[in-house]
Amino acid sequence: MTQIVADLLSDTLTRPTAGMRAAIAAAEVGDDVFGEDPTVARLEARVAELLGHEAGLFAPTGSMANQLGVRLHVGPGQELVADSLAHVLRAELGAAAILSGISSRTWVADRGLLDARQAAGLMITGAGVYQVNTALAVVENTHNFGGGTVQPIEQIRALREETRRQGVAMHLDGARLWNAHVATGIPLADYGREFDTVSVCLSKGLGAPVGSVLVGTREHIDEARVWRKRFGGGMRQVGVLAAAGLYALDHHIERLADDHARARRFAEAAAAVAPGSIEPTQVETNIVILDVAQSGWAAADLVTEAAARGIRLYAVGPGKVRLVWHLDVDDAATDHAIAELGPLLSGGPRQSRQV
Ligand SMILES: *Cc1c(COP(=O)(O)O)cnc(C)c1O
Repeated sequence: MTQIVADLLSDTLTRPTAGMRAAIAAAEVGDDVFGEDPTVARLEARVAELLGHEAGLFAPTGSMANQLGVRLHVGPGQELVADSLAHVLRAELGAAAILSGISSRTWVADRGLLDARQAAGLMITGAGVYQVNTALAVVENTHNFGGGTVQPIEQIRALREETRRQGVAMHLDGARLWNAHVATGIPLADYGREFDTVSVCLSKGLGAPVGSVLVGTREHIDEARVWRKRFGGGMRQVGVLAAAGLYALDHHIERLADDHARARRFAEAAAAVAPGSIEPTQVETNIVILDVAQSGWAAADLVTEAAARGIRLYAVGPGKVRLVWHLDVDDAATDHAIAELGPLLSGGPRQSRQV
């Protein structure tokens, strides 16, 4: 099998660094279900403070952190609204319906970008016995399948105003909120404060092996702790995992700028050989979604050809592939991706048969 040189499949692929492994080895631990793990407690408090909230809860996955947020705000027979590409609806296997007994409706957003008027226009409150009541709006920032797009904070604020007026809660799927913060310089808490609850991932670009944190009011987090146990997510001596998260917060936030620069550099090179495949100025963070149908490729075929050249990509649609930069993709790997994918993109599928 070809050696993979540039693994751009996902930013979940990162492996713990030597420094992170040392932090894991040194972690003080206790039984977290009994509230006795000091490292978990430190991580929860730290993330809550960073995001401008009272309390935090360590969760094994981002999906669980999101679904705890959903469970807090939406009851059976009520609905949540989100955009049609939202992870919470498309990539969590129907969890909101199964675990919370709720329904969902979506708005369609170009590149996942929030338009507060459009989102607010979908919400229904006080409809009596006729229509489902909207209890929650979910915003994803950055937006994964939108192409790592950063949500404009003024749109978030406008939606906050409207939801407050209508008594609808807001949850932020901030799996990659760190990337939005680094790309814009807007403090994490400025984003965080606009939401009732926020979930963030430690296991994407931050490079921890596992873990997410949900933040909110003390009351909400106490309730989420009960639901986490009920969902099967009560964990014991997980200070070893929280230590990886704390290490990531200390060492891996600012470096996300390198991922962003490499993604942009790749996008510029791709646009130069295959105009229309990507608009480089729209690449704000670590994700690039290429329209490869333009050069005659079916996404699945390009994924296969790229793998034979040491590059792993993800087909996000019949004619679109996603590339994600992270801790384990350096400048040399980015150069390799540019050198190998360039001819494939410019030549189309026919080019590949000559190689
Ligand atoms: C990865 C991700 C999550 C959480 O995924 P898990 O695999 O459950 O940790 C949530 N939201 C977004 C936008 C993501 O990209």
